[in-house]
Amino acid sequence: MPECLFCGIAAGEIPATVVLDGKRVIAFRDVNPQASTHVLVIPRDHYPNVAALASAGDGLLNELITEAHQVAVAEGIADSGYRIVFNTGPGAGQTVGHVHAHVLGGRPMTWPPG
Ligand code: 5GP
Ligand code: ZN
Repeated sequence: MPECLFCGIAAGEIPATVVLDGKRVIAFRDVNPQASTHVLVIPRDHYPNVAALASAGDGLLNELITEAHQVAVAEGIADSGYRIVFNTGPGAGQTVGHVHAHVLGGRPMTWPPG
């Protein structure tokens, strides 16, 4: 497997501001936040995108979404509203090839997204 930035963060080899440290899932603040809350939620194991994670079929995607909601609760944005975004593929803006849910909130958001 090629060197993976988010595998490095999950292993604690690359520093990050961790907000949730689970057995199979870890969440940390995005280094370039696009909202007052911008947290990335990832599985510790490497999957290239959300479709590959869904195909694993061992409940890990469910766990990831559950933890993303827990992050929103902890950040105080669960009631005001938040987005969970999986950019998938280069045309959608995916730049890191280790699946990650963006949890974004704390400011008004428009639709459609850019
Ligand atoms: P994507 O563009 O793949 O949907 O999202 C990748 C995200 O990872 C971007 O929002 C980017 O700001 C974030 N990111 C890139 N490198 C790092 C890093 O070294 N640390 C953290 N915490 N976030 C990063
Ligand atoms: Zn990885």
